[in-house]
Amino acid sequence: MRRLLIGTLTALWAISLGSAETGPSQSIVGFSDEAARVERAWEAKFMAIPQPENLRDYMKRLSARPHHVGTAYDKDNAEWILAKFKEWGLDAQIETFDVLFPTPKERLVEMLEPTRFTAKQAEPTVAVDPTSGQHDEQLPIYNAYSADGDVTGPLVYVNYGIPADYEQLRRLGISVKGAIVIARYGASWRGIKPKIAAEHGAVGCLIYSDPRDDGYFQGEVFPEGPYRPPDGAQRGSVMDMTVHPGDPLTPGVGATKDAKRLALSEAKSLTKIPVLPISYADAQPLLAALRGPVAPEPWRGALGMTYRVGPGPAKIHLKVKANWDIKTLYDVIVRIPGSAFPDEWIVRGNHHDAWVNGADDPVSAMSAEMEEARALGALLKQGWRPKRTIIYCAWDGEEEGLLGSTEWAEAHAEELRHNAVAYINTDSNGRGYLEMAGSHSLETFINEVARDITDPETKLSAWKRLQLKHIADAGSPEDREEIRKRPDLRISALGSGSDYTPFLQHLGIASLNLGYGGEDGSGIYHSIYDDYYWYTHFSDTDFSYGRILAQTIGATVMRLASAELLPYEFSNSAETIEKYLGELKKLLTAKQDEIRERNRQIDEGLFAATADPKKTFLPPPREDIPPYVNFAPIENAVAHLKRSAASYDKALAKARENGGAKLRGASLQKVNALLIESERRLTSPEGVPGRPWYRHQIYAPGYYTGYEVKTIPGVREAIELKHWPLAESEIARVAKTLESEAELIDAAAEELEKAVR
Ligand SMILES: [Zn+2]
Repeated sequence: MRRLLIGTLTALWAISLGSAETGPSQSIVGFSDEAARVERAWEAKFMAIPQPENLRDYMKRLSARPHHVGTAYDKDNAEWILAKFKEWGLDAQIETFDVLFPTPKERLVEMLEPTRFTAKQAEPTVAVDPTSGQHDEQLPIYNAYSADGDVTGPLVYVNYGIPADYEQLRRLGISVKGAIVIARYGASWRGIKPKIAAEHGAVGCLIYSDPRDDGYFQGEVFPEGPYRPPDGAQRGSVMDMTVHPGDPLTPGVGATKDAKRLALSEAKSLTKIPVLPISYADAQPLLAALRGPVAPEPWRGALGMTYRVGPGPAKIHLKVKANWDIKTLYDVIVRIPGSAFPDEWIVRGNHHDAWVNGADDPVSAMSAEMEEARALGALLKQGWRPKRTIIYCAWDGEEEGLLGSTEWAEAHAEELRHNAVAYINTDSNGRGYLEMAGSHSLETFINEVARDITDPETKLSAWKRLQLKHIADAGSPEDREEIRKRPDLRISALGSGSDYTPFLQHLGIASLNLGYGGEDGSGIYHSIYDDYYWYTHFSDTDFSYGRILAQTIGATVMRLASAELLPYEFSNSAETIEKYLGELKKLLTAKQDEIRERNRQIDEGLFAATADPKKTFLPPPREDIPPYVNFAPIENAVAHLKRSAASYDKALAKARENGGAKLRGASLQKVNALLIESERRLTSPEGVPGRPWYRHQIYAPGYYTGYEVKTIPGVREAIELKHWPLAESEIARVAKTLESEAELIDAAAEELEKAVR
């Protein structure tokens, strides 16, 4: 059924503002009451379609064998997904790219002194777990994109291996120059650990999973419980994704057959030193052989021994060699053409590749995406026609560094910049609360979707359950009050770690990352035990959360695809950016206070007086107190942004008041075009300092954190690195970006007023 005739210039559209009610309301942001009724009827049909038993079947099939990039089963899965999409009546095809994907040729970790020990680096078969014995097809435990190397040196324990840990080491008088460091997993993207180690002169890096973080300290280990067993290890990419993700040989362009490729020696995102991950069974003898100072208390894990820092006497020999091969990626792409606005695209994606069997990561959410596609196929057969084009994507090569999504986004950059309205991502799903993150211009919109989803355990709406959880976790009475009163729950900003990155941070496409979780403990991440047996014993065992994930994303995609007025709103994003500005000012003040106080302590002789003369403890260096920085350009831009957002809200309210008045379709189309442009305006062609691939000026993964987001990254990282002239010039750039955004919102408000007149 097609309700609106393409090309009609006028129609009766009462635009809803949505509502702050906690229960489902009949209105929908961006839809007239009439259109909302039709939309809800289609959504009700959609919601009834996803079935837990299908999710279980897809998982069983997709995770039956190891399926990392380059394997027969990876390709087989892509072809099977393609066949399913076609069976459901969808127009689907596979797009391929050829990328650098190193696999292990040689891996050796041995202790030469004071005793000899060779790490096993193997995860054993577990009798009750049928796929754990598929050793011939399993990718060995390794870190992809590690440099090749054969190094020997004393061992130093560096905790998580983040910058603060190296500052602590310096105070202990310990250098890692010429050493092999051992860091534990956690607190940063893993690729950050060898990067920082190399910057400090280390020649090699080991990364191990401490039982405190995801092993027996947390709960029973697999197969008795969901946590990491002694020999379980975390594979993973150590590509420097903070420079750019995707194929290291084709930055910025799609890795098509004829793409111009860098030589291996020119690739910027490989590590500088060799690195390997190990299990805690393999790490224990190495750590136990360390002497030197006892590790600071926060550094101590849950192994039954005294944690020491070294260096040595443990002497380690580390050897890493990879097959530096080019492998083919298989992205499966579905296109459902829009009936009214075919050149406005809603893009939805999840990856299908895994490190090994990958039942949780990524199949749990890939299965939900398949049920969504099946449901949309069924709706199409019943006459449903989305106004905008919907593109469903099953990415390959996410695990190695967002390869499939990045190459596709780079290959289609021009079309995407013109056409993409939004990108919706998932990657793994479990039991618990809805996790919402993404562009703040979509905050109101996604809150409304969450109000319409029923949580299977509590029968509350997913939104209400999350609100109560936020209240339970709030740090202060003020925070609790805000959560109770604010119409929308705050969504988190996106850093990196999944396929939204090329869309949001490279192309400036408004994006959301969604999934359920928080009640399912897990220590099988990137191991051979992330499989069907584990998932069906310890995670969303009845697939009821898989079902509501499909419902959540289905509603999200359908609403974006058929809204008359695109559901962007700017008051929340203006307020959020203002909050980030407040954080930046506080960050600077805190730095000034901290250095002022420390200098004072140095003058008082505090460090000399309190240091145990029998231990090495170096005083911190005297530093210049950071200068005041002029934030006025951003303050003015934020004030403008808030005024613009308010005038857009006013125009929206007018559209709503005039429920029956004539909205001019042509003006409405102009409003929508501006709304689509709104996230692009937050990018700058120069990118963030030193990282031109990352163009978004509000969200970027931290250069020294990786997954974790740095908001207003240019300014924030300049302050963190105490680079004051850069902080000032970045303030000017961000202010210009925000002014341009405010002007666009002013124009959208004006057009919307015209559309109401
Ligand atoms: Zn994943």
